[in-house]
Amino acid sequence: MQLQTEALHAGYDKDSQSTMAVPIYQTTAYEFRDVEHAANLFALKELGNIYTRLNNPTTDVFEKRFATLEGGAAGLATASGMAAIFYAIANAAEAGDNILCARQLYGGTVTQASYTLKRFGIEARYFDVQNPSEIEALVDDKTKVIFFESLTNPSIDVADIAAITAIAKKHGILSIVDNTVATPVLCRPLEHGVDVVVHSASKYTTGQGLAIGGILVERHDLVDFIRSNPRYPQFNEADESYHGLVYVDVPLPLFCLRARLSLLRDLGAVVSPFNSWLFIQGIETLSLRMREHSRNAQAVAEFLESHPKVIKVNYPGLKSNSNYANAQRYFNGGMSSGLLSFEVDDFELAKKIVDATNLFSLVVNIGDSKSIITHPASTTHQQLSAEELVACGVPSGLIRLSIGLEATDDLIADLVQALNA
Ligand SMILES: *Cc1c(COP(=O)(O)O)cnc(C)c1O
Repeated sequence: MQLQTEALHAGYDKDSQSTMAVPIYQTTAYEFRDVEHAANLFALKELGNIYTRLNNPTTDVFEKRFATLEGGAAGLATASGMAAIFYAIANAAEAGDNILCARQLYGGTVTQASYTLKRFGIEARYFDVQNPSEIEALVDDKTKVIFFESLTNPSIDVADIAAITAIAKKHGILSIVDNTVATPVLCRPLEHGVDVVVHSASKYTTGQGLAIGGILVERHDLVDFIRSNPRYPQFNEADESYHGLVYVDVPLPLFCLRARLSLLRDLGAVVSPFNSWLFIQGIETLSLRMREHSRNAQAVAEFLESHPKVIKVNYPGLKSNSNYANAQRYFNGGMSSGLLSFEVDDFELAKKIVDATNLFSLVVNIGDSKSIITHPASTTHQQLSAEELVACGVPSGLIRLSIGLEATDDLIADLVQALNA
């Protein structure tokens, strides 16, 4: 079935009340039929609900539905995108290991990898997502993950997914992709050789800026890649914390299973059932919204490109953009999502334009139905010098837009008056 159909139906067998809307199971725990039932659940002889830190029927629908949209085997929801990223990496790597990360990543992911994972003994090594040939020199026998974003936030590059996953496969390393900005409507990384996809559900999935959450999804048959792979003994040897369970021997998608049974169990960044329910509402309209976000952003990008005060526009849907070929190759239906940036002469002019907009809200978020404007040099990248800003692709006159669902003409009219202010 097609994605817009799955978005409405996948993962939900109507409950005993036959409700059309997926119910919110707002509960911490579940009653067992008897002691044997409880014992079977704990031993995984039977699958079922135990405690909401491990599983929840509303979250289960969100996980199954989202995994279906990504074309994956299973999903695991978390309390935030950052938690999903941490669990995906911590499931593959441990102290003494290293991970290879694209340099162009969400700021929170860079700090998690460079500082927090470092304190856990995991070293992050960086490559240029525009130049996958840098990866090979970074690989050694302690390399456990290659991590990148399909459509990067905030630099707005499109990764050559197949080129990167080919290197990962050659060395038997798990590839993990953050698909938050592209969403499965534009791009399905698992179809291009990626092993695990992670998301911040706080952006386009919820869609209206309503809730923080995250999810990771693993591909079908990942067990064949992990079985006997010397990089991943944790899946091939007995897990003493789960009375000797060997994950490759369990007939369930093993990456999510281990993340649930060890990481979610022990670290507990679980999503609330209410937020899972909000994500289910968001998913129903995801494909409609992504089409509109992309159409609006394309029109705004074309307008900005023709404006005399604008030096450069970064949007993969523009023929002038260096990412255009990758966008055509990896994104569906000519869509390029809602994120774009443009450059004007200097810091002062950028500040003036941002302050002069009315319809755009000054917010450090993306993926809302309301349009958002950000000036990275005065906010997220404030600590950096002018030279450092240029080096990381964020010149002081750069303005980032997350284009919402307002009428295109109203968005352009607001930018016209702000550019002329
Ligand atoms: C926002 C974002 C995250 C972090 O997600 P939270 O839900 O805010 O924790 C990770 N990756 C990307 C690409 C993001 O845009």
